[in-house]
Amino acid sequence: MFQEELKQPVGRLQGIGPKTSAALSRIGIHSVSDILKYYPRSYENRLDEVDFTAAFKSSGQTIVNTSATVTAHEYFGWGKKQTLKILLNDNKGIPASLICFGRNFLAEKLKEGTSVLVFGTFSVRYNELQSTAFDFEIIPELFDITEKQLSARNISDSFGRILPVYPLTSGLTQKGLRKAVRNAVDQYGKFISTELPENFILSNGLMSKADAVEKIHFPERTEDTAKAELTLKYEELFHFQMAAARRALKRREAGRRSKTGINHPERNLHLKLIDSLPFSLTDGQNQAVDEILEDLDSERPMARLLQGDVGCGKTLVAFISALRCIEKGMQCAFMAPTELLARQHADNADRLLSPLGIRVALLSGSVKKDKRELLLKALTSGEVDLLIGTHALFGDDINFKKLGLAVIDEQQRFGVLQRTALSEKNTAADLLLMTATPIPRTLAMTVFGDMDVTTIKSMPPGRSPVETHLAALGREEKVYQFIKKQLSEGRQAYFVYPLISSSDKMELKDAESMFSSLKDEIFPEHRVELIHSRIDENEKKKIMDEFHTGDVQILVATSVVEVGVDVPNANCMVIEHAERFGLSALHQLRGRVGRGEHQSYAFLVYSPELTEAGTARLKVMKESTDGFLIAEEDLRIRGPGDLAGSAQSGFMPFTIADLNTDFDLLKKARVDVRKLMDTDPGLLQPQNSVLRKLFETCPPFSNMISGE
Ligand code: ADP
Ligand code: MG
Repeated sequence: MFQEELKQPVGRLQGIGPKTSAALSRIGIHSVSDILKYYPRSYENRLDEVDFTAAFKSSGQTIVNTSATVTAHEYFGWGKKQTLKILLNDNKGIPASLICFGRNFLAEKLKEGTSVLVFGTFSVRYNELQSTAFDFEIIPELFDITEKQLSARNISDSFGRILPVYPLTSGLTQKGLRKAVRNAVDQYGKFISTELPENFILSNGLMSKADAVEKIHFPERTEDTAKAELTLKYEELFHFQMAAARRALKRREAGRRSKTGINHPERNLHLKLIDSLPFSLTDGQNQAVDEILEDLDSERPMARLLQGDVGCGKTLVAFISALRCIEKGMQCAFMAPTELLARQHADNADRLLSPLGIRVALLSGSVKKDKRELLLKALTSGEVDLLIGTHALFGDDINFKKLGLAVIDEQQRFGVLQRTALSEKNTAADLLLMTATPIPRTLAMTVFGDMDVTTIKSMPPGRSPVETHLAALGREEKVYQFIKKQLSEGRQAYFVYPLISSSDKMELKDAESMFSSLKDEIFPEHRVELIHSRIDENEKKKIMDEFHTGDVQILVATSVVEVGVDVPNANCMVIEHAERFGLSALHQLRGRVGRGEHQSYAFLVYSPELTEAGTARLKVMKESTDGFLIAEEDLRIRGPGDLAGSAQSGFMPFTIADLNTDFDLLKKARVDVRKLMDTDPGLLQPQNSVLRKLFETCPPFSNMISGE
C-alpha cells in the first residue's frame, strides 16, 4: 500500500503551490517519492558553533555559526546607494559586521540590542570581520519561549541543525525546498517500508529505509549522513543485482525445457573441424571450448562472455561452438558488428564449415528482396544451420526453426534489453558474447552481472608483438619510406584516417584525399584501394577480397577496419591523426596487424596540438600491447563518468550509488543476492509480491524486467 501513498503528486504536500510544483516538475520531481529521492548535494552544519574568534584566526573565508548581539548600525557610500552595515558582537565580545547590499530594510529587523543566530561566510577585510552572504534568525526574548524550545534545536527551523543543500533550479529556493522535503518526510515517512531482508540490514550495518530517507535529508549529527547514504546506496545496488539474478534464474529455468532438436546425423562435427585445421588450438582456446561445450551440453542455457585480446582466435572458438549446437539439430546465429565483418565471418565459415556439410547463409542489408525471402523461408524450415549477419539477424521477421546458439561478436554495447529481445526468439537459446575489449570490472558485475566469463589469455604461436612507433605530423615521409620497403618484400599495409572526406571545419587529413595522393604520388607502383562506410557493399566486398588475396597492397580506410578484419599478410598499420582515436579503437586498429608470421609495425602519426588525454593515449599505445591494461588505462584517462555515458546509458539508473566509488558495496550486494538465490530463490520469482514491489520502487528496472 505504501506505493500508492508515495505516488501522490507533490502538489499535495503542505506549502507547495502550483508555481513550486511547476518548478519541481522541471527537474523531474512529480510525486512525493520523487521529492524524497531528491537527495541533498551537501550540508550546512549549523549545529556546531564556530564563533568570530575562530573566523578571525583563519585567513580566507570561514563559515561562522554563532549567536551574537546587534551593537550598532552604520552606513557607507553616498545618497541612494548607501549601504547598511550592521555591527555585531558575539558572546565573547568579538565584533564583526554584516554588509547588507540592497537590504537596508534589515535595519528594521535587526535593531540595536537584538540577539540573533548568524550563519554565513565571513572573511577579514579592512581589518574587520565581514560577511555579505549570511542568514540569520532573531532569538526571541526569554519570556517568549517555552521550556521545550529552550534547547536551541527547537527555536528555529534553520538553526541549531544540519541543513540539507539541494541542487536548485529557477523558481526554487533552498528554504522552500527544505520545507517541502520536511513536509514530505513528516507526512509520508510512515509509508516508506524497508525492502531489504532483515539479515542484510544487520550484517551490513544499515538503517531502516524510512530512517535513512529522513536522515539523508535531515541528519541530527554529522555521522548520520554516512550511514543513511550507505543504506540507500546498498539498496540501489541490491536491486540492481536482483535484476541480474533474476535474469540468470529465468534462463536457468528456461533451460529445463528441452534444449535439443532433431539430432543431426553427424555427431562429431566439431572434432572434425579441429582435425582439419593446419594448426592446433591454443591452451586458451581449448579451455574456452571446454567451458562452452559443457554449457552447451548442460540443461541450463548458457550466458557466457568470451573475452580475449585481438587476434587470440575467438572466431574459431565460436565456430566450434556453433558446430556443437548444429550437431544437436539446432541452428546458430552469428552476429557481427559490421557488414564487412559479417562477410568475412561468412567467408571463413564457408571455407571451414561448408566442407563438413554445414549450410551457411549470410543475411546482409544488401541481399535483394526475393533472395532474402527465400533465405528466410529456408531459415524457418530449418534448411540453414548457421546464419551470419549484423544486428538485422534479430529483426521481427526473422524466424528460426530452432535457434540453439546466438554468438554476438564485438558488441560491448549489446545491452541487457537487446540480449533480452534476442532470447525472446527462443528463451532457451545459448548466448555467447565475444569481445576483445575487456569489460571493466564494474560492468562485469552489473550489466554483465548475470553472465559467466571466459578469458583467453594465450595467443597463437609465432606472433611477435607489434612494434609501435609514434611520429609527429610532418615526419610521415620516413614512415612512407619504411612502408615502401615492406611492400617491396611482399607485405601489405593499412592507412587509417579519422574522416572520410575533407571537412571545412577541421584541418585533418581525410581518407579520400589521402587515397589519391597515396595512390598517385607516394605509392604509384602499388595497388591502393579505398574503403569506408559510404562505399557500396558489393564494392567493399570486392576490395576486401582483393586485399585478402594480396592483389591490393594498400588499404586506405576509416575506422571501418577497426574490428575483426583479418588479413595475416598485412603487417603495417599507419594511423594518421592518431590523437583523434580513442584508446580501444587504436588498440583494435593495431590488432589488424601482427596476425601472421611477419614482424608487424604500427605507426601512430599525430599532429602537434595534442591534448593531455591525447598525449596519455599515445603513450599507453607506445608502451603496451596488452588489451587489458589498455582498457584499464582507457577508463582512467577518460575518467569514470564516461563509463555510464558511453557504454551503458539507461542501465545505470542510480540516484545515489556511484559505481566508480561504490564498487566494494556493489560486490557486497552481489554476494548477498547470490546468497539469497541459493537459500531462498523463491524470493526472486516474479510472482513474489515482495520482489515485485522491490522492482517497482526502482522504475528503470521495471522497464528492464517487463522487457524480458
Ligand atoms: P579474434 O580473437 O581477434 O577474433 P580471430 O578469430 O580473427 O581473432 O583470429 C585471428 C587469426 O588467428 C585468424 O587468422 C585465425 O585463423 C588465426 N588463428 C586462430 N587460432 C589459431 C591457432 N590456434 N593457431 C594459429 N592461428 C590461429
Ligand atoms: Mg574477432
